[in-house]
Amino acid sequence: MKLFVLKEPKWEHRVSVTPDAAKFLSKFGSILVEKSAGERAGFSDDDYKSVGCVIVKQRDIGDADVVFGIGPIRCLDSVNGWTIIICLQEPYENRENLRLAKEKNLAMFSLELIPRSTRAQYMDVLSSQSSLAGYKAAIESAHFLRKGLPLMMTTAGTVPAAKVLVIGAGVAGLQAIATAKRLGAIVSAFDVRTSAKEQVESIGAKFVEVESVESEDGIYATEMTASYQTAQEAKLRSVIPAQDIIITTAQIPGKKAPIIIKKDMVATMKRGSVLIDLASKTGGNCELTKHGETVSEHGVLIISFDNILNLIAYDASRLFAKNVSAFFELLSKEMEKTKNLSQIEEEIIKSTLLTFDGEIVNEKFKGVCL
Ligand code: NAD
Repeated sequence: MKLFVLKEPKWEHRVSVTPDAAKFLSKFGSILVEKSAGERAGFSDDDYKSVGCVIVKQRDIGDADVVFGIGPIRCLDSVNGWTIIICLQEPYENRENLRLAKEKNLAMFSLELIPRSTRAQYMDVLSSQSSLAGYKAAIESAHFLRKGLPLMMTTAGTVPAAKVLVIGAGVAGLQAIATAKRLGAIVSAFDVRTSAKEQVESIGAKFVEVESVESEDGIYATEMTASYQTAQEAKLRSVIPAQDIIITTAQIPGKKAPIIIKKDMVATMKRGSVLIDLASKTGGNCELTKHGETVSEHGVLIISFDNILNLIAYDASRLFAKNVSAFFELLSKEMEKTKNLSQIEEEIIKSTLLTFDGEIVNEKFKGVCL
């Protein structure tokens, strides 16, 4: 079996398989690594060669049985039919790859669809990557704020602790809270999910309660009603003016991110404060966010990164590669048992497989218009 590791496009610095992961995966077959695939994440071609990988050109992808990538693969045209593709496919947005995968009989796995269960945690790329994004958002916010974060008493006076508000306490939000706490800030957070309160409080932050009878108790949030949004806005209007840093991470899978901070709310923020919007790829939680740009309004910096994980590409690649290796190990075990991929009943594999044998086989995507 030939396993191919893609070099990502120039806007993506991560690599899906690191040399350590390649060493692990080599028990399943030979590893072909596209030239300079790991360069921007800090892994050289020699690092890959030292664990037995062969450095190849992109056109050699036609020889592959399995292709590993980070994001939606741009060269599906050059991949042979029946190849197994494993990456983040952005299946809700990227219908073109879905169409191509179907047309070319590819076995396309979409890592976004790995269940958020305890058993699947060690393969869950969304969690590992969101965690690092949350950490980095807190670090970057401290970098751009022209104030210190911890309380500092000096002979020249006292530097008060900065106030940080995190909106959305999922994986990224919780890591942003924990990081800002470690940096010494006074941190509060809120989320529509009731279960988030306990998690926020367990890491030492204050949970901002929204006075509303409605809240969520599922794993993922859904769109909230107009009355909840009004209550949420009223609460936020009362806490926002005190904040030095706001980090927003609120998302709804497959939908546009909710607008939580309106233009006029930014105007009430302190001059010099910083807002980092981690939900910008799906539209952003702040009305003024421009994806991949820094906007300055009313003396507030509204920052959105094109890909914040590029700033921590080494560790992001290591964790991604660990997740993907665990996923492939499980897939191989299941393939040994059942020769036909579409008959695998194992829950993680089944819920992640998008297309097989010219069909969309995933329940969530059957019947989508291509
Ligand atoms: P996400 O990226 O989809 O969303 C981030 C957060 O934004 C979520 O907590 C969501 O509730 C919140 N949110 C959405 N709309 C909001 C609004 N209008 N106002 C405020 N907050 C809003 O979330 P995620 O980080 O991918 O996590 C999703 C879920 O999966 C969470 O419940 C998390 O606990 C769970 N999870 C479970 C495991 C596990 O192994 N058991 C692993 C990872 C994640």
